[in-house]
Amino acid sequence: MSGCRYLEKYEWLVCLEHFDGCCAYCGTSKKKLTADHLVAKSRGGKDEASNIVPACETCNQNKGTSDWREFMMSMSTFSQERMNKVFSWRRIGRYL
Ligand SMILES: [Zn+2]
Repeated sequence: MSGCRYLEKYEWLVCLEHFDGCCAYCGTSKKKLTADHLVAKSRGGKDEASNIVPACETCNQNKGTSDWREFMMSMSTFSQERMNKVFSWRRIGRYL
């Protein structure tokens, strides 16, 4: 499993567990997962658990510095359930 240089190891593991080892955006479990900032650092996003989600390299690149909600809703594979998972991670991540 890939690591994450922004978080403590346990935080990244809890994060992966929350998303069932899948990309937070498209839901694939078949690609290598990278750590993506929901709010890009260039937009003031921080290196903290509530702002980091697992993303496949394709989504990570396609999202770039876009707003994560707009990015998700623009996807042909959009799922409200997956978006809710991101919202719940935003809350859980704050307490790690
Ligand atoms: Zn993806």
